[in-house]
Amino acid sequence: MVTQTEKLAIEGGEPVRRGGFHGWPVVSERDEQALLEVLRSGRWGSHAGNKAREFEQRFAEFHQAKYAVTVANGTAALEVALRAAGIGFGDEVIVPPYTFIATASACLMVDAIPVFADIDPETYQIDPRSVEQRITPRTRAIIAVHIGGGPADMDGVLDVARRHGLRVIEDAAQAHGAAWHGRRVGALGDLGTFSFQSSKNLTAGEGGIVLTNSGELYDLAWSLANVGRIRQGAWYQHEILGWNYRLTEFQSALLLAQMDRLPEQIARREENAAYLAAGLAEVPGLRPLRRDPRVTTHAWHLFIGRYDAAVWDGIPRERFLQAWRAEGIPVSAGYTTPLHHLPVILREIARLEAIAAGGRQSYDGWIAAGRPHPSPDSRRGMCPVAERACYEEGFWFPQHILLGSRADMDAIIAAAHKLWRRREALRA
Ligand SMILES: *Cc1c(COP(=O)(O)O)cnc(C)c1O
Repeated sequence: MVTQTEKLAIEGGEPVRRGGFHGWPVVSERDEQALLEVLRSGRWGSHAGNKAREFEQRFAEFHQAKYAVTVANGTAALEVALRAAGIGFGDEVIVPPYTFIATASACLMVDAIPVFADIDPETYQIDPRSVEQRITPRTRAIIAVHIGGGPADMDGVLDVARRHGLRVIEDAAQAHGAAWHGRRVGALGDLGTFSFQSSKNLTAGEGGIVLTNSGELYDLAWSLANVGRIRQGAWYQHEILGWNYRLTEFQSALLLAQMDRLPEQIARREENAAYLAAGLAEVPGLRPLRRDPRVTTHAWHLFIGRYDAAVWDGIPRERFLQAWRAEGIPVSAGYTTPLHHLPVILREIARLEAIAAGGRQSYDGWIAAGRPHPSPDSRRGMCPVAERACYEEGFWFPQHILLGSRADMDAIIAAAHKLWRRREALRA
């Protein structure tokens, strides 16, 4: 006989927890005041007010960077960074496949070809050895994604880049405040980009920023995000082709208010993540990602763990996660398709290659042929670690769970132990 408390929720037992985890975003009166101030000022656009400039300064300073340009979102930030770095038609940019689509789609938006390097099996960060193997005469840049908020191996990435004369862009959309060897991310390479989309650790609903230590790249990034204007120029003076990627003052004001909380939230996530990692590591077949000792601050946008089905009598990850969720635990599988298997990415790469092969004629031929692209199956095994992470191993907790209490972490750990004890029920 199985007691009612030992019976899994998927068998009709009592769940370990019923809701009550920490929510997101965090809002106080200060946020309301900040928004009202902008509303009443009548200066709603960033060209009219001073909130964007104030936020740029503050965010850059916090990340030990000289310059910042606010933009509409993290995808726009990547496009601006790529264009500022001189990346364009046919250039190859090495990116990891275990990331949000924007890391690769931003390359395609500027007519560059994303080339996928594998990730490290212990940290899930881009693997500098794999990066080096993907370099061709057309490689121009590397995008190092700080996945989950844990900085990528920047020593390794910067070393490969230096030896091959490549630009480095940090995709720090998940890594606000993270630090590598005591230096904050964002200006460790040539340019760094962040997102302030709703789920991110610093948010205004949407938004983004580009950081750099280079005055030249700053001017370019500013122009690219401001319809090609130059900073000291006239309103209708457009020197290069640029987007309008500006934020509203409402967003900048909100970001300034939210910034006040960031250091305290970083500390809280660090503390809970350490506790959760230690607790989950006690459960057979669950392994939190390894923290590289050179990571001095982890931003914990995601708490990522690895599930080993072989240890769990072959129970598929989906079944395990379904049962964990039934216990009231907000866990997900995270990215379930590596970007090098996404048909849209393969199709767009094929489009660029058709154009590169012979301009208009070969492009028209590609269209007439029905826009063919290689099948995802033909890409199996190209980045085996990222494939395993997506298809078999990875599980995630979002950042705001780590803002909760010690009891929240205990519930997550207790539910995992309960599933392990009753794993025979998962086999059904
Ligand atoms: C969120 C995210 C982006 C894109 O940011 P948006 O603001 O949603 O455009 C880019 N890269 C990574 C790794 C992200 O997580």
